[in-house]
Amino acid sequence: MRILLVEDNEMNRDMLSRRLQRRGYEVIIAVDGQQGVGMAKSEAPDLILMDMSLPVIDGWEATRTLKAAPETMHIPVIALTAHAMSTDREKALEAGCDDYDTKPIELSRLLGKMEALLGGNKAQDTGTEEGS
Ligand code: MN
Repeated sequence: MRILLVEDNEMNRDMLSRRLQRRGYEVIIAVDGQQGVGMAKSEAPDLILMDMSLPVIDGWEATRTLKAAPETMHIPVIALTAHAMSTDREKALEAGCDDYDTKPIELSRLLGKMEALLGGNKAQDTGTEEGS
């Protein structure tokens, strides 16, 4: 399974991509909303993890763009935001996000949402989880 992670914060990006890779996912990275839209089109990921607060175009606008384009509208998008406010959840779903999760990321919770959207096709557990 190929996951597109759209996240401008380097520390969040590195940590989450490493943890997902250890669970057997292939992770590709975009650092702003515009690059995220471009990579969704060129790389055809199975699922997108979309930070909402992004430079160039934000996650809401990027998701609206993806959900309006025939070649990307089928790709599930999980919104990630630091704000646990219900208005942000509504805003994310209105923009076309398929699900929503809040930072700090709780990996088991996020994996559950990812697997639900990926149709129950679990990534293979590589069994190489490291302590770091
Ligand atoms: Mn951000």
